[in-house]
Amino acid sequence: MTDKNRRKFVTVLGASTVAVPVSALIGSLPSHAADPAMVDEASDAAKNWEYVAVSTNAEQKCMGCALFQGEADSKGGPCPLFPGEHVAAEGWCKAFAPKPS
Ligand code: SF4
Repeated sequence: MTDKNRRKFVTVLGASTVAVPVSALIGSLPSHAADPAMVDEASDAAKNWEYVAVSTNAEQKCMGCALFQGEADSKGGPCPLFPGEHVAAEGWCKAFAPKPS
């Protein structure tokens, strides 16, 4: 192996040993990019259900709806009426059904 080839080999080897740990680190980080988007009030689905992100009725909010699937203290969560998106915990739509007490 010539000096030139040895230098190139060492450079490639060094780059690959750095690249693997960085890629492993990136893969282990939590991904916020995968968080579902919040429902857009202007979307057709939202208009269909008359969804609003902030309810005007203190007793009827998504967080109190039987269909809300978010955590109790979350700002939003899934609702089967809006697959792939999150509704606001403070939101409301015309399908509101109170959670059983
Ligand atoms: S059905 Fe309507 S009120 Fe109930 S959680 Fe879904 S969007 Fe909110």
